Amino acid sequence: MEPIISKPGPAPMRVLIVDDHDVQRCALSQALRQVGIDHIDEACDGVDALERLKRRRYDLMISDLNMPGMDGILLLRHLAGLQAVPPIVFNSSMSKDMLMGAYRVAAFHNLPVIGSLNTPLSMEQLCRLWQAVARRPGWNEASPGFGRQDLERALRRGEILPWYQPQADPRLLRVMGMEALARWRHPELGVLEPSAFLPSLERYGLDEALFFTIFHAVAEDYRRWSEQATLSGLRVSINLTAKQFCSPELPSSLAAAAEEQGMAPALITLELTETQRLKNIYQALENVMRLRMAGFRVSLDDVGCGYNGVQHLRELPVNTIKIDRSLVAGAAGDSVAREILESTVQLAQDRNIQVVAEGVSEEADLQLMLKLGVDYVQGYLLGKPMPADVVLAYLRRRGQG
Ligand code: C2E
Ligand code: CA
Ligand code: CA
Repeated sequence: MEPIISKPGPAPMRVLIVDDHDVQRCALSQALRQVGIDHIDEACDGVDALERLKRRRYDLMISDLNMPGMDGILLLRHLAGLQAVPPIVFNSSMSKDMLMGAYRVAAFHNLPVIGSLNTPLSMEQLCRLWQAVARRPGWNEASPGFGRQDLERALRRGEILPWYQPQADPRLLRVMGMEALARWRHPELGVLEPSAFLPSLERYGLDEALFFTIFHAVAEDYRRWSEQATLSGLRVSINLTAKQFCSPELPSSLAAAAEEQGMAPALITLELTETQRLKNIYQALENVMRLRMAGFRVSLDDVGCGYNGVQHLRELPVNTIKIDRSLVAGAAGDSVAREILESTVQLAQDRNIQVVAEGVSEEADLQLMLKLGVDYVQGYLLGKPMPADVVLAYLRRRGQG
């Protein structure tokens, strides 16, 4: 077999094989080497895979579904909480309906599944797989991560800007807020989502630069919108990284930025994610207190996903929690997810904390959120993230603005 060496990028492709059977892992690994892939890691179940995915970037993950320990399905749920997820291929002898089910699970979590391998494995299958990975936008450029200069230039030129996803009350579906989600209008690659560039931005310590770029753009968009419509206190949420949140300068630099931009802090909610990475819980506490006293609202993001548990509710007096979409999407048909949701919402309500459910993409889930007493919903059912210039038209279509 001729090795397929027409690699699209300078970086070697790194593949993670997840399978509980040594023999299968070994066979797949050998076949991959034959097609020219040398950087291969192996994991024996989902837990092992997650550990590896947290430690390093992969260009592809080939995963079995049926494994003792953490199986492939549970692994998908946990993957949804990671910043960067490689394209996924299922390698399983499961029946077609089960395989289709796995595709649906992945779709719920917005995970990039690019195909499946059937046993016995053929070289033809592997070649097709390789081509599918190579065709993915940005794999050659984004593979080793974008360079610092590319990112700084993009920030400077205003190529990285916020798109907005609506948040509404679940009863009347009245839009009460928008989450600002970073998008990169890349001159060659088109519009890129955060998973393509956020890890590189963080690696170069540019998360603060990203935040203030987004913040300024939000203030400008808001000013433009309010000149053309009545926004009735529409709020905007902006994401912060854990590292940023541990900076003692955060409250004063934010207050200064809000003042300079003429943006009332009460209109801004700061979403804090990855609290397991909060190295300094004292500093985080101090920041929550000072930001709230300055009038900002603070929200604990991605609750229920990975390690972002409700335990931080005791430590950090936040205004809101956001329940991650891995728990919300499909919850109406999942008794376990429902139970976790119920207790989480209860816990928040007992503390007078508002609850936002993220990833509501089906009517049945919306009805469940309404029943559970969730304060706000966000998800594809209501609207996908959209560029600033269509926000007012969106609001008007809904009889608002
Ligand atoms: P997040 O804060 O949890 O944001 C929600 C993500 O879920 C968004 O992905 C959104 O498009 C997606 N989503 C919302 N509803 C649905 C749904 O019904 N179905 C599906 N399949 N997906 C839904 P996005 O925009 O790709 O952002 C991914 C993550 O990147 C965000 O997750 C956030 O952690 C991070 N991020 C985005 N913008 C920024 C930023 O400006 N700064 C920082 N530090 N992080 C950001
Ligand atoms: Ca968020
Ligand atoms: Ca989330």
